[in-house]
Amino acid sequence: MQEFKQQDVRNIMEDIVAQKLDSVIDSLGCCTCEKCRADIMAYVLNHVTPRYVASEKGELFSKVQELNQNNNTDIVMKIVSAAEIIKERPKHDV
Ligand SMILES: [Zn+2]
Repeated sequence: MQEFKQQDVRNIMEDIVAQKLDSVIDSLGCCTCEKCRADIMAYVLNHVTPRYVASEKGELFSKVQELNQNNNTDIVMKIVSAAEIIKERPKHDV
């Protein structure tokens, strides 16, 4: 039987947006519960270009770090507009 090294194919924007969101969520003034956080994530990910990478776990981390240096302002702006929308219409009772 042949053994394959386990490879991940994933959208690293998910990691980048999650990291960004964690660092700014307290200043957004919106609800920070699991549901709203997931809604913000989904909104932002639908509005950024996905970056799929196939790599092993270690490499993945350095790619995330690398991209995290760039796209920041764009992602933060999208997080802010997502928070505005979710603030208006949270998917739960206040
Ligand atoms: Zn909420």
